[in-house]
Amino acid sequence: MARAARVIPGGVSSPVRAFTSVGGTPLVYRRGDGAYLEDVDGRRYVDFVCSWGPLILGHAHAAVRDAIGEAVARGTTFGAPGETEIELAEHLTGAYPGLEQVRFVSSGTEAVMSAIRVARGFTKRDKIVKFAGCYHGHADHLLVAAGSGLVTFGHPTSAGVPEAFARETLILPLDDEERVMDLLQRDGDRIAAVIIEPVPANNGLLPQRAEFLATLREETRRAGALLIFDEVISGFRVARGGAAERYGITPDLATFGKIIGGGLPVGAFGGRRDVMRQPAPLGPVYQAGTLSGNAVAMAAGLATLRLLDALKAWSALESLGGALEKTLTPVLAAAPFAAQMVRVGSLFWLYLDGGPMPRAAGQVSPAAAARYGPVFHALLNRGVALAPSAYEVGFLSLAHDVGHFDRLATALAAAFTQVPQPPA
Ligand code: PMP
Repeated sequence: MARAARVIPGGVSSPVRAFTSVGGTPLVYRRGDGAYLEDVDGRRYVDFVCSWGPLILGHAHAAVRDAIGEAVARGTTFGAPGETEIELAEHLTGAYPGLEQVRFVSSGTEAVMSAIRVARGFTKRDKIVKFAGCYHGHADHLLVAAGSGLVTFGHPTSAGVPEAFARETLILPLDDEERVMDLLQRDGDRIAAVIIEPVPANNGLLPQRAEFLATLREETRRAGALLIFDEVISGFRVARGGAAERYGITPDLATFGKIIGGGLPVGAFGGRRDVMRQPAPLGPVYQAGTLSGNAVAMAAGLATLRLLDALKAWSALESLGGALEKTLTPVLAAAPFAAQMVRVGSLFWLYLDGGPMPRAAGQVSPAAAARYGPVFHALLNRGVALAPSAYEVGFLSLAHDVGHFDRLATALAAAFTQVPQPPA
């Protein structure tokens, strides 16, 4: 890491990897296989991060490796339409509710940025609404969080984002229908889109009530604004058709990333055919990419999605999630502080506090975050890697099994005996 920090800011290519919120020095890895990561000193870890979601089949799955190898041999990128790109687009549109057309990009950030531009072009309106605690990548107008419990014009969460850009983003709290109705019924004719992670998973895991999502659907339709589901995490994870299928709510536009690239850089955005007439060349919204739809990434994504179908992945992932929950429940009950597990399918979150499970960012207890760092390190010392932040979720893959859950449970029980106790 000292070597890395000389040539890479903070030694990392993405900030959470730097362990800033849990302290200590990040590990440097040299390989991954199945449910395991191996560091440069040869120590192995059960990996519950799975590269933040893409590796739903585990690391280095043979089917994905083979597809990548075969694609590479035929040429990595054509800069022109490719067969696999069409096949992947057909697969996505066949799987996701209301996804009539889709375009590929190279990251989730790019997918969301493009979807927002399309929504603005389609509606000829500028404002967008996002929810406090939802992350949609690092495009300027999305690096904005709520100032308070009131509807605020957003203030940038990051330096380098002009206030003027942030003012185009309105922030609402999750889980509050009234606030949605107030805003959309009053100011709806200025709003291009409401964007949400339908399974919010970037501020802990904050599962929403179906009624709340249904209200978004109804109110955006009434206001002539578009509803965008950011399914970068939830797409092909919480169901084959993502959260849209799980909750039975069809957005106008959806964004994807992670799983659809099988571990290579891929994002996608799409939705209603009339809205998807906006991007060039059909319409006036410019959007492009040199490596968009490249043959290798498309092959990795297609191999992953086809295998998920063949393995009936979603019921298997639900069973795995259930098994994890069953294994951890007694350990969490015996923790020195209140501790619970929040779970949606194969997404899970250790919430180290009591009380009702939070459904909005403002309900997440700071005490839970303060307890997380020592637990994280105690687990890592025992060969179990969770995310290096209290606010990040855990990801299961089809390479995980109950043996891995037992290891996590044993390590967690040991960690709880070791962590400093808060004053009574
Ligand atoms: N949207 C959501 C919901 C995400 O979780 C992420 C990244 N974790 C993004 C967008 C941005 O994706 P990327 O990191 O590929 O740019």
